[in-house]
Amino acid sequence: MEFVDLKTQYRALKSQIDERIQRVLDHGQYIMGPEVAELEAKLIAFTGAKHCITVASGTEALLISLMAMGLKPGDEVITTPFTFAATTEMIVLLGGKPVFADIEADTCNIDATLIEEKITKRTRAIMPVSLYGQCADMDEINAIAARYHLVVIEDAAQSFGATYRGNKSCNLSTLGCTSFFPSKPLGCYGDGGAIFTSDDALAQACREIRVHGQSARYTHVRVGVGGRMDTLQCAVVLAKLERFEWEIKQRRRLSERYRELLNALTGVQLLAVRKDRDSAWAQYTVLVERRTSIRAALQAQYIPTAVHYPKPLHQQPAYAGLFRDCKLAASEQAAERVLGLPMSADLSYSQQDRVVSALRGALP
Ligand SMILES: *Cc1c(COP(=O)(O)O)cnc(C)c1O
Repeated sequence: MEFVDLKTQYRALKSQIDERIQRVLDHGQYIMGPEVAELEAKLIAFTGAKHCITVASGTEALLISLMAMGLKPGDEVITTPFTFAATTEMIVLLGGKPVFADIEADTCNIDATLIEEKITKRTRAIMPVSLYGQCADMDEINAIAARYHLVVIEDAAQSFGATYRGNKSCNLSTLGCTSFFPSKPLGCYGDGGAIFTSDDALAQACREIRVHGQSARYTHVRVGVGGRMDTLQCAVVLAKLERFEWEIKQRRRLSERYRELLNALTGVQLLAVRKDRDSAWAQYTVLVERRTSIRAALQAQYIPTAVHYPKPLHQQPAYAGLFRDCKLAASEQAAERVLGLPMSADLSYSQQDRVVSALRGALP
């Protein structure tokens, strides 16, 4: 059993994927080939955002978004400490200051009620992360941002395909950033990502920054990066889009089934999903005590698990210096208890039953 089963997915989509890759090899336009614009158009249709700019990775999407909004050294960005490092990393890389608001214990997403008290004169943006595939309280966050004239960047690396109050993740705020890292809900076969926005000026800025700040060939109107997504990776995502809606439905079905099977177990706490949103179920994460021994027991039965994330970012060596005496109790508790179980559209019911019975046997 794999934590994320990419092999079964490839077998199911082999002819589409092989054909798409072959087409790129035949035309040979490896950089900014026709698949790039084709994918961007399909992603616009899927999300409803006005613009899509594919980029080299989810990390690059965050970086380019922050550059496009003009984040300056000393500017503050309010975000969650309970996420992959890239979210905070890109703020720090640009000389900005991440300011952490703690998470909700039951969803592990940023607690929108704790954001306003963190706003100062230097605050420029709020960066919620749609963790494990579920969006945060985006309307509340957007309302705070509107009052203080802040930009909202959704880190939607884990939530492509999720919905919030009838709208798609990536199209819920000023900018939305997703990742096509292979194990994400919509993955390529390497690195890739995309930025979504309905703001024309920001879209133009992102497009220029993606290609070294060029507005036309060898006209560098701003400082940029080499941030393009490869044509080949766009081709893979195009092929995978063909059954993506089915995959999201399947993930929802499997998550519902996990919920039914695990609900009865004492010692396993399930995360909440709010009624007004559907998760993309990038992960199926539960909360347990004595996680190390549970993981070992599952591993002994060849059941892979993952911990996202074992330490909140204010406790990571690279960032701890910025956050002395910082106490974020809900994030710290979640980091000790979260356990990710195998999840992918191709997980079978019998595999899922094995996971559940192994977990039952491993509980203290
Ligand atoms: C995966 C991930 C990223 C980074 O995406 P890459 O494509 O790996 O650069 C950023 N933020 C979150 C929350 C992620 O899960």
